[in-house]
Amino acid sequence: MSATNRQAVATTLRAPAELVDNGLAPASALPALEQVAARYAVAITPAVAALIDPSDANDPIARQYVPSAEELRTLPNELADPIGDHPNSPVAGIVHRYPDRALLKLVHVCAVYCRFCFRREMVGPGKDSALTDEAYTAALDYIRTHGEIWEVILTGGDPLMLSARRLREVMRDLAAIPHVKIIRIHTRVPVADPDRITDDVVAALKAEGATTWVALHANHPRELSDKARAACARFADAGIPMVSQSVLLRGVNDDAATLEALMRAFVECRIKPYYLHHGDLAPGTAHLRTTLEAGQALMRALRGRVSGLCQPDYVLDIPGGHGKSPIGPEYLQRDATGAYRVADYCGEVHLYPPPADQT
Ligand code: SF4
Repeated sequence: MSATNRQAVATTLRAPAELVDNGLAPASALPALEQVAARYAVAITPAVAALIDPSDANDPIARQYVPSAEELRTLPNELADPIGDHPNSPVAGIVHRYPDRALLKLVHVCAVYCRFCFRREMVGPGKDSALTDEAYTAALDYIRTHGEIWEVILTGGDPLMLSARRLREVMRDLAAIPHVKIIRIHTRVPVADPDRITDDVVAALKAEGATTWVALHANHPRELSDKARAACARFADAGIPMVSQSVLLRGVNDDAATLEALMRAFVECRIKPYYLHHGDLAPGTAHLRTTLEAGQALMRALRGRVSGLCQPDYVLDIPGGHGKSPIGPEYLQRDATGAYRVADYCGEVHLYPPPADQT
């Protein structure tokens, strides 16, 4: 059965038995997948199901969304809150890690549930629910009384699971706070459920007094389907700038050709590549993480293959809530004599400044 001749999935698949019925998992895996689903949410939208080739045991789209028995293995260094949201949460719904920006987590549901998600212990049906009216008011008060907050990042859960009406209210409330100048929305919906990106939703994201940015999460070039590209074009055509974020995932995008195609696809969609995250220490995700050295080698390869427009920052979220750091690779070094040595994109090393007889 190929992705093209398989019968289209009509509704979001949530139960392991539905995955088996639709050819996305073997029946023999059902008992293990039931155990996985009891702990971590599962959802595969029709749009994502259509991208999966079930005849490919290593399909890079399936690997991101179809649960696996490997998720039942949690390593001792894996953490329920790997990037330290909780220690940086002064009030419900707010994460204030850096002085000038704060996360506002309005919802705890997503269109799809990614198998590597660093908030997998917090998102999904049965986990924390959406912010109550009182909690939302308290979160707004926190932002209002912290004049250093220049940027509010809506994340979660996926904020674009909210209705256009609710999004319009939230954007209006935030933009009315004089020191909030930027509202950034992190979403997977243009990939996972592109039909949700209607003119109404796009219009709701524009609010007088603040600039809206949308950060699209995608990890494989096939996720930028025609429909996903059309959804992204709606933002760009409305004057909403976009950036990307991707996670480096073993067996999904950990080769230079795939990363190159992904970054080129973003730029073609008017999306500036922003972050390539090293996989977080989320529970049950070791099979999807690469090594840091592999990530650096891929970034080095990317530097030689695509222009600066296509280069994301390779970053590590330091466990415990210490924030993101760019993790290389490094091109500039100082030798024992104090001279600088800089590597070019082919790996050849040059003295800087060059010796006088070479200039
Ligand atoms: S859409 Fe984002 S928050 Fe939701 S499961 Fe995927 S990575 Fe996690």
